Amino acid sequence: MSFSIAIDGPAGAGKSTIAKRIAKKMNLIYVDTGAMYRAMGIHLIRCGIGPQDEAAISRECANADITIKYENGEQVVYLNGENVNPILRTEEVGSMASACSVFKDVRAKLVQLQQKLASEVDVIMDGRDIGTVVLPNASLKVYLTASVDVRAKRRYDELIAKGEEWDLDKIKAEIAERDHRDMTRENSPLRQAEDAILVDSSDMTIDEVVDAIIKLCEGKR
Ligand code: C5P
Repeated sequence: MSFSIAIDGPAGAGKSTIAKRIAKKMNLIYVDTGAMYRAMGIHLIRCGIGPQDEAAISRECANADITIKYENGEQVVYLNGENVNPILRTEEVGSMASACSVFKDVRAKLVQLQQKLASEVDVIMDGRDIGTVVLPNASLKVYLTASVDVRAKRRYDELIAKGEEWDLDKIKAEIAERDHRDMTRENSPLRQAEDAILVDSSDMTIDEVVDAIIKLCEGKR
């Protein structure tokens, strides 16, 4: 059986930054499952489908051919043959990803792709349902979180560094709204798996979190 680390947690907890560093240090493939939901979001936006139209989303998700390749160590997401990495990270796409991820047909399709990847190589995979649904037998499960205030401030600093003007309270409200939707949806809500280890990064540096998780892997590989 291949080795796998599952990292779940709310938006802005630092999952992808941490997972990318651990992947490098432990020679694992980093699988960003949020990017797959974002690619699905792009497809649905392009088809002009509303975020609550379950029938149309269920029908149309079958036509989204989402594949993952690794180029120069980076995950590249292809949507119907097109590299969509450069357009994954907009608010509009994030919002559609979150909206369509509540529907079971969307989840079933992407979970299947994620499980296939993890069966082929050693992975560190991050998302919302990795420890609970995608990789129930992961070698290590981590639930990575931080307070809403800390997560909002990190996001705010990131946007300011990019030269964008943002209001901290607005970001905080958006994060709280996304948490609520991810945690209360019927299909695969975000929650800590029973056998996941809780890591609260509110008062930790990135290096401290990376070291703590690598330590948790000792003896498991
Ligand atoms: O992590 P990221 O913000 O890129 O994910 C976009 C959205 O996709 C999340 O808000 C969440 O609703 C959804 N998602 C999910 N399950 C995953 C990964 C992401 O429902 N495993």
